[in-house]
Amino acid sequence: MKSVSQRLPAALMIGILSVAGCGSGRLVLPFTLDATTLATPIRTQDFVTTEDAIRGISTILVRDLALPLPYTFTAYVYSGRHGFERGLIDDANVAPVRAAELSEFAVGIGKRRQLLLNDEGGTARGREWYRLIAHELAHVSQIELAQGEGRAEQWLAEGMAEWVAFNVLERLDLDTVTNRRQMATSGIRNHAALLAARLDLETLGNPRGFTVRHLREGSLPTYQLAFLMADYLIARDGFPRVVTYFKSFERRQDRHANFRDTFGRSLEQFEQEVLAHLKSVVR
Ligand SMILES: [Zn+2]
Repeated sequence: MKSVSQRLPAALMIGILSVAGCGSGRLVLPFTLDATTLATPIRTQDFVTTEDAIRGISTILVRDLALPLPYTFTAYVYSGRHGFERGLIDDANVAPVRAAELSEFAVGIGKRRQLLLNDEGGTARGREWYRLIAHELAHVSQIELAQGEGRAEQWLAEGMAEWVAFNVLERLDLDTVTNRRQMATSGIRNHAALLAARLDLETLGNPRGFTVRHLREGSLPTYQLAFLMADYLIARDGFPRVVTYFKSFERRQDRHANFRDTFGRSLEQFEQEVLAHLKSVVR
């Protein structure tokens, strides 16, 4: 982990808009997605700083995936678990108990017009860092669409965020969606929910239940399961329909009715349908 003093020169290089936290290993990066930003070509070799990467990945989301992002938002980058935990409390108004829990297993979080990242290893670049940025930016978009946090099905929020992240990596020539789909398919082969032939979307649908499940059944396979379910839904109904689904929470906060009205079947029906699909592909 880098010390605070080592991080300061990097912070100063970010530019005049950036504010280095008072010796806390914390960077505050404001973003405005204006027409000039969105017209800039995206090349991975231009990603020198995290600021470059966030701007480039935001552009891919808005321009290539037609996923709306707020006109302005702020990214916070912390240089370790402790700073990340404090940032969740001070910058994002997360309750201290939840912040302690989150910082144990998460290295990023997307909030209302906010993106909080834990640059734990001080590497801050490469495929996994860009995947994390894209994943959390997808949450920022979902929250903007729904005009609030934690409103839509949590498994779909996580699965869609992974789908977006893998599509971004593919556009950056760092990975392919097909590769991630294959990895996820073999990853869930022995997943408890699949072996029990019961996905229990009711539990996976709310933020608390999703957290409990991934702590109990393993983070990686739970996110892989969420990705495959979202991927199936997107292949069937198209990505714009999923965007419409998140937007439906702006008017009405009814998980069951919004899912049924957007996708033309109930959550219970979808659960049976996607379970049959997953069982067929893991074979
Ligand atoms: Zn997430």
